[in-house]
Amino acid sequence: MDFCRLRIGAVKNDSGPARLADLLRGARDTVVFTGAGISTESGIPDFRSPGGIWTKMAPIDFQDFVCSREMRNEAWRRRFAMENTFAGVRPNAGHDAIAALVAREVASHVITQNIDNLHQMSGVPAEQVIELHGNTRYAKCLECGARVELEPIRVHFDAYGEPPDCRECGGLLKTATISFGQAMPEHEMERAERATRACDLFLVLGSSLVVYPAAGFPLLAKRGGAKLAIVNREPTDIDDFADLVLHAEIGPTLSRSLELLEKSA
Ligand code: NAD
Repeated sequence: MDFCRLRIGAVKNDSGPARLADLLRGARDTVVFTGAGISTESGIPDFRSPGGIWTKMAPIDFQDFVCSREMRNEAWRRRFAMENTFAGVRPNAGHDAIAALVAREVASHVITQNIDNLHQMSGVPAEQVIELHGNTRYAKCLECGARVELEPIRVHFDAYGEPPDCRECGGLLKTATISFGQAMPEHEMERAERATRACDLFLVLGSSLVVYPAAGFPLLAKRGGAKLAIVNREPTDIDDFADLVLHAEIGPTLSRSLELLEKSA
C-alpha cells in the first residue's frame, strides 16, 4: 500500500486511524516522538496555540537565570504558580495509547520534548522515555547535578522569597528542564539519535516541529529509511516529507488506531 504524503483531516471516519494502524502493524520498531500537543487533552496548554501560558510570558533564558537573582526568583515564582495545574494533571487517552504500544513492544522508545512526566505516569518505563528538554517535577543543582525535590525548595521560597542553594555544593538550583540557551543533555541526545536511526517507523504526535535540535529527529529517521507519520492539529513544515499526516486530535485518533491494531492481532 502506498502511504506517500497522504493527508487526512478531521477523523470523520476510520480511514486515518486505520492507515496509522496499518503502519504500526507493518513496523518492526516504532519510535514515538511527542510534543506539547500530547498533553493539551490533560489540561496543560501547549507552547504556541493561542492562549497558552507561554504566549503570555516570555521564557527566561538560561544566561539570565544564571546571571540574575531577580530572574531566578521570577523563574521559581512562575514554577510554583504553575503547580496547581501540574499537581492535578493525569495522563490522557493519547498517553495511555502510547503506553499500550510500548507494553505490547510495538514501540521501543518515547522521545519527548515535554517536561511534564506524563509518559512515565501513564506507565511507560522510565528507561524507555527519552526527555530531550528535561523534567519540571524536580530540580537539579547546576553545579554538581544533585537531584532536589520541589517541596523543600517551595518551603524555603515561601519563607525567604528566594530558593535555597544546593546543600551539597552551594550551587544554583533550577528545575531539571532545559531552558532556551542551555546546552541540550548529551546522553539523552545520543540515546534519541540511536533510537531514531534504529527504528523503521517514526511517529510524531503533537509537535509544531519548530524547536531545534529536537525537531531534527523526524527527518533523521526519514533519511535513515524509516516511515514517518505525523498526527497534529495543524500542518507542520515537514508534512511534505511524511508518509502519513493526520490533522486530527491525538487522543481519539491514537486510541482508535490501537483498537484496530488489537482487533487484527
Ligand atoms: P508546540 O506548542 O510548538 O506545538 C504543539 C502542536 O500540537 C501544535 O502544532 C498544535 O496544533 C498541536 N496540538 C495541540 N493539541 C493537540 C491535540 N490534542 N491533538 C493534536 N494536535 C495538538 O509544542 P512543541 O513542538 O512541543 O514545542 C514546544 C516546547 O515547549 C517544547 O520544547 C516543550 O519542551 C515545551 N512545552 C512543554 C509542555 C509540556 O511538558 N506539556 C507544554 C508546553 C510547552
